Amino acid sequence: MNKQSIPVQKNQQYEVVFEDLTHEGAAVAKINGYTLFVPKALPGERGIVKVIKVNKGYGFGRLMERIETSEHRAEPPCPVYQQCGGCQLQHLNYDAQLLQKQKMVKDVLERIGKITKIPIHPTLGMNDPWRYRNKAQVPVATREGGLVAGFYQERTHHIIDMDECLIQQEANDRVVQVVKDIANQLQISGYDEKAHKGTLRHVVARYGLVTKEVMVVLVTRTAELPHKEQLIKQIKERLPEVKSIVHNINRKKTNVIFGDQTTVLWGEEYIYDFIGDIKFAISARSFYQVNPEQTKVLYNKALEYAELTSSDIVIDAYCGIGTISLFLAQKAKHVYGVEIVPQAIDDAKRNAKLNHINNVDFAVGEAEKVIPWWYAQGIRADVIVVDPPRKGCDQALLNTIIQMKPKRVVYVSCNPATLARDLRVLEDGGYQTKQVQPVDMFPHTMHVESVAVLELKK
Ligand code: SAH
Repeated sequence: MNKQSIPVQKNQQYEVVFEDLTHEGAAVAKINGYTLFVPKALPGERGIVKVIKVNKGYGFGRLMERIETSEHRAEPPCPVYQQCGGCQLQHLNYDAQLLQKQKMVKDVLERIGKITKIPIHPTLGMNDPWRYRNKAQVPVATREGGLVAGFYQERTHHIIDMDECLIQQEANDRVVQVVKDIANQLQISGYDEKAHKGTLRHVVARYGLVTKEVMVVLVTRTAELPHKEQLIKQIKERLPEVKSIVHNINRKKTNVIFGDQTTVLWGEEYIYDFIGDIKFAISARSFYQVNPEQTKVLYNKALEYAELTSSDIVIDAYCGIGTISLFLAQKAKHVYGVEIVPQAIDDAKRNAKLNHINNVDFAVGEAEKVIPWWYAQGIRADVIVVDPPRKGCDQALLNTIIQMKPKRVVYVSCNPATLARDLRVLEDGGYQTKQVQPVDMFPHTMHVESVAVLELKK
């Protein structure tokens, strides 16, 4: 559209009907063919929007008034929902969120993957979709009146002070509140991002859902942690569930939370958790799924789809700390896991030992290089499981899968668009997608995980 023909003007208000939701959670309205994205509105609603940004092909609006309300609308229980960027869907009731996620997967598989006529099952959701996150990483700053700790306001670095986050484990909320309080009393300064001054940058809390063990990580800009002994003493006294207090130093002017130096101030280096029967050691820096209850649902589904027998050789590509590998190893003859981050592979090996699982091998490297190399060495998998990051699988990996011809491929995905793209490649290479199961790992956000199973065509 050229500028003259754009039918809306900035700061003007229009009455619109909302049609759909984007994968970022904004509602879509059309004004004479021009697309407007409006957060916090819902399909089927009618309302007045104020145009706040006009681009060539689309613009953004703010919902000023609702004239007709969707029957699926919910009252967001979070007091800072309007300011915080963490959740996008609290205003949609949970059943409708699950339907929306199923629809998103279905639409994108059809549109991008040309995959139709297979079951895309109803999203597996949580019975209680609140308080599910086991890790809080909360920025700290000093303001008039003391320390603030909370979350960044959407699209800014302005910290909203916050007492609780309703998708966070209560134990983690407590850690943040208590540490903020102690640090305030000890007059430890919060980090000033602009000036790169001050001490305490982040409070990180980790929680073992099954073990109830808690870890506190204090990330500071300075090597020195003022009043260290007092701080430790009071954390121990006021938070008896804490098993581990860790100090991380991040001297850099950066958005990245952790720096390179980590020392245990008190207690254990690891806390533990279980997913199903498998025990995991979690250090300050370990990657670990943030919603372990739903991780169990997702990986049990992957295990079911893999239909393993005790003679099966399995490859787990993008294995992280070996969560899926160790699940699969309980049923398979042997599992090979590959992952690009060396520390994750250290954790995977530690976790295998911890669980006395011996029929696994873990390798550090790019899946798209290591698996072709394994293939050249004569390794043949009966089943390949992939769980790639958002950008999906590398083409070279998909090519090797097609060459190796495992009888089954199980694809765990956090991004339906790249899932669709990759399923198309595998289908063209001789596989057939049998079914897809969306799983809600992140209630009230737009994230959707799914697991798909493909079989080699006869
Ligand atoms: N299945 C894992 C998590 C997978 S997340 C678990 O549950 O623990 C995706 C993983 O892929 C991340 O750990 C990331 O480090 C890794 N990764 C990213 N690119 C990769 C590549 N090219 N080859 C191998 N691993 C990669």
